[in-house]
Amino acid sequence: MLRVAIDGPGGTGKSTIAKAVAERFGLEYIDTGAMYRALGLKALRNGVDAADEEAVRGMLAETSIDFVGGQTHLDGEDVSGLIRTNEISMAASNISKLAIVRAKVDEVSRHLASTKDVVMEGRDIGTTVIPDAEVKIFMTASPEIRAKRRYDQLLAAGKEADYEKIFKETQQRDYQDSHREVSPLRQAEDAVLLDTSDMTLEENIDAVADLISSITGRSA
Ligand code: C5P
Repeated sequence: MLRVAIDGPGGTGKSTIAKAVAERFGLEYIDTGAMYRALGLKALRNGVDAADEEAVRGMLAETSIDFVGGQTHLDGEDVSGLIRTNEISMAASNISKLAIVRAKVDEVSRHLASTKDVVMEGRDIGTTVIPDAEVKIFMTASPEIRAKRRYDQLLAAGKEADYEKIFKETQQRDYQDSHREVSPLRQAEDAVLLDTSDMTLEENIDAVADLISSITGRSA
């Protein structure tokens, strides 16, 4: 069994790196943030206030989340293209504070990790979801670089982007994710810290692949 847990704030390159590494080692890539995003989307659509625990509980009882061919499905609908907006980032962060929401996502995540070898990416994988993962990595990069990466991503996707606004939103989401009561964003004591500020994407992927090889003896 091989479970690779990659945690860290947004804009560190976690998703791209986790996907590339999963491909190199033949592991399943699981993006736990996509589940919080899907739940944030549903709450927005249904006018459910993330602070209203009873309303959220009712919503969760009627919600299914699956990954089908790498795409995120919410109640059978492929929402992968809809959940990558700033509005949904914040909605995900807001709803992810609730323990009942985290319990639902944890259940799906742990089930997936029990059936296959995985690279699982999020905020609390190494601390809460799979604390006994074989490889645990905590990725960081300076706030300016993370905001710049998001900005470049949006421009590359042909979308509008405002660096100052992205920087502020990134800071706000990091603060909220790091200061919530349940499973806040933090480095597990036994996770390897990887600062990606001065690394190219290729260097970063190689660093993670080398780490997996040195810890597990598996080659890519
Ligand atoms: O990683 P991503 O930016 O897609 O995550 C969206 C939001 O989901 C995060 O800001 C965080 O609030 C929440 N999240 C979480 N725990 C995880 C993954 C994501 O709380 N394991």
